[in-house]
Amino acid sequence: MFREIVYRVQQTANPQKRAGGKIKGHKSRSHGVGMRKCRYCKVELPKAKNSKPIERHGFCSYEHMAQYGHEKAVELQEKAKRKEVRQAKERIKTKAQHARELQTLVNKYIRLRDQGRPCISCEKPDDGSHQRHASHYRSVGACSSLRFNTLNIHASCAQCNSHKSGNILEYRIRLIRMFGEAFVDRLECAPKSQAYSLEWIGRAKKIFRKRCKTIKRAGL
Ligand SMILES: [Zn+2]
Ligand SMILES: [Zn+2]
Repeated sequence: MFREIVYRVQQTANPQKRAGGKIKGHKSRSHGVGMRKCRYCKVELPKAKNSKPIERHGFCSYEHMAQYGHEKAVELQEKAKRKEVRQAKERIKTKAQHARELQTLVNKYIRLRDQGRPCISCEKPDDGSHQRHASHYRSVGACSSLRFNTLNIHASCAQCNSHKSGNILEYRIRLIRMFGEAFVDRLECAPKSQAYSLEWIGRAKKIFRKRCKTIKRAGL
């Protein structure tokens, strides 16, 4: 009697045992292998119980396994070579080059940040009808300490930035309207020059690359 009860409890506790060991919603191993394809030529492989040892490794033949291995090795070698070239190029870059690359990233960030806002100088709307630039209020040549400062750079139309040298008088009016006179005073009193270390530029490049990615990913 006791044995019978224990047996019944075991039976109800493991319902999948009665269903041939298969658990509902779970792909069994043999099913998964049966659906596999050769990793090289993508031909479908037979089910596990009929398969040859090579097929259990995911290949239809030893030739294809060898070919796959060879191609993977070449691929890895080429990848390593590309990385080496990239690193070598990076090593011979001058500080000025790194600074220019940082400027490109900062400008890209500014254009993303100011998307949809009108030109800072002439209020031309950002409607896709003209090219947008990142315009420095204090120019790079006049004030290198604000060269990468995002408070000193705002999106403008190409006309204002390139043909009117930033259209600074109008730029000033709108900066005061947006941020107040004290803000503009601080920009105008900023020290003229600043030296940036290579480490600082490197860190800033990483930060701005990340910022651009974040804005793009958010679809802002
Ligand atoms: Zn194959
Ligand atoms: Zn403009």
